[in-house]
Amino acid sequence: MHIVAIGGSDAGISAALRARELDPSVDVTVVVADEYPNYSICGIPYFFSGEVQPWQSLAHRTHADLEATGMSLRLNTLATDIDVPGKRLMLTGSDGASSELAYDELVVGTGALPSDAGITGVGRLTPEDGLHVIHSMGDTFALERQLDERRPASAIIVGAGYVGLEMAEAFTVRGLAVTQLQRGPQVLSTLDPELGGIVRAELDDHGVRVVTHTTVTAIEKTAAGLTVTATSDGVPATFTAELVLLVVGVRPNTDLLERAGATLGAGGAVVVDEAMRTGLPNVYAAGDGIVTHHRLLGVTYLPLGTTAHKQGRVAGENALGGDARFAGSVGTQVVKVFDLVASRTGLREREAAAAGFAPATTQVSADDHKRYYPGAQPISIRVTGDTGTGRLLGAQLVGRLGTETAKRVDTYATALFAGLTVEQVSDLDLSYTPPLGSPWDAVQVATQAWSRQVGRAGDLVGLVRDTDVRPLQAAPLAGSEDGPEEKGG
Ligand SMILES: Cc1cc2nc3c(=O)[nH]c(=O)nc-3n(C[C@H](O)[C@H](O)[C@H](O)COP(=O)(O)OP(=O)(O)OC[C@H]3O[C@@H](n4cnc5c(N)ncnc54)[C@H](O)[C@@H]3O)c2cc1C
Repeated sequence: MHIVAIGGSDAGISAALRARELDPSVDVTVVVADEYPNYSICGIPYFFSGEVQPWQSLAHRTHADLEATGMSLRLNTLATDIDVPGKRLMLTGSDGASSELAYDELVVGTGALPSDAGITGVGRLTPEDGLHVIHSMGDTFALERQLDERRPASAIIVGAGYVGLEMAEAFTVRGLAVTQLQRGPQVLSTLDPELGGIVRAELDDHGVRVVTHTTVTAIEKTAAGLTVTATSDGVPATFTAELVLLVVGVRPNTDLLERAGATLGAGGAVVVDEAMRTGLPNVYAAGDGIVTHHRLLGVTYLPLGTTAHKQGRVAGENALGGDARFAGSVGTQVVKVFDLVASRTGLREREAAAAGFAPATTQVSADDHKRYYPGAQPISIRVTGDTGTGRLLGAQLVGRLGTETAKRVDTYATALFAGLTVEQVSDLDLSYTPPLGSPWDAVQVATQAWSRQVGRAGDLVGLVRDTDVRPLQAAPLAGSEDGPEEKGG
């Protein structure tokens, strides 16, 4: 038995690790386009901020760690074609030499590629010119080279999604003057404006110049550096800096599977079932290149590292003959922006309405721990629930660093996974001690407010049964103004 995984990031490596874990006798080969298997691209912004150094620390596992699991790595090797009936992969090495690799079962984890949002001039500009994207270690080295060698004083970041915000912080820490251009009316458009506004204020406080309502149409090289042409508030505008970082989302990297005959679905990603089967014999796929099974929406496209790990694990197990299922995402995401943490899980009101629910949303500000104990800080929490069934549909939270906002969103994520009602979240036995919480945790203060204001508290007993859940349908996740964020959504 020879299992081959294409892709050396979250999905491909998770598949390979799972197969080797379950059966140490199985041959597993991972084919990777570059020489950086199992690097944490989620950590790249913290390399730029200087918090994570040297770059080698970004490796989840070293090359030696990976080989110690018994898998073989074919690095600097591009998979160029899949011969599905012949169960062979066509490969090209970095020296241009072609070869073939036979497999019994294949897992494709080729991920996503940075989007260029159709901006004129992007295809002609390179990192040498000062135009950067950020998705691989190669991108990271190119950007670091410019920062290190040319010491630019200014940067434009096109996009104010998760990665754009993380990089705004990193550039600011490095002393660059940052202008952040965002197409829509607010930064982090995956949150409701009431919470997006708090994130915007944090950027303002740290000197990031945020320009919203600004659609970038072209980027060109000029004597002053790079000039970005845009329509800003309906009026033509230009912005100039020595460096431009384009972070306007990702598109699934589906070429290989498309040519092999796979079907494309939501977001242009490859269709798979919950077992990660592509429909092509002996070919599984996982990660940012495939559609996402979502517990509230059915099938959507929501590329996330957390999801890629789980899907890869399922694919690796099933390639070995197992019967694992991806249980579905609820779209839980979190980002640190300077001293703020912004997070969400599930659906916002308009997304829930588009998916056929009857949602209502309430907002509270609740202290992270008892106010009499020093250092209490408010967390802004929005809870969305279904007015028909009382089912929890989603939550958004923004709090200062140290308020455990990330773990509090995880409480809601767990409740969503279990199909709890909003009322049932108030019943959960959550921990309490005054320095760390309250008898009613902030999570529950928010659900109680929902029940008081819109819920049918008292009517709702028992878990929401599967039959109460709306039929699964392909529904796009209303999220970023700019398409799928690098961090999903
Ligand atoms: C800066 C940044 C920060 C992020 N932060 C977070 C976060 O905090 N939380 C979170 O959940 N997600 C985060 N994400 C998203 C997360 O990194 C991705 O969802 C995840 O990496 C997807 O993993 P993947 O294996 O599907 O694909 P990718 O990471 O895109 O990797 C694809 C792999 O396939 C290889 N490959 C592609 N084509 C071929 C080919 N033809 N032959 C051989 N090899 C090939 C590539 O070299 C690469 O190894 C972040 C993304 C970025 C860019």
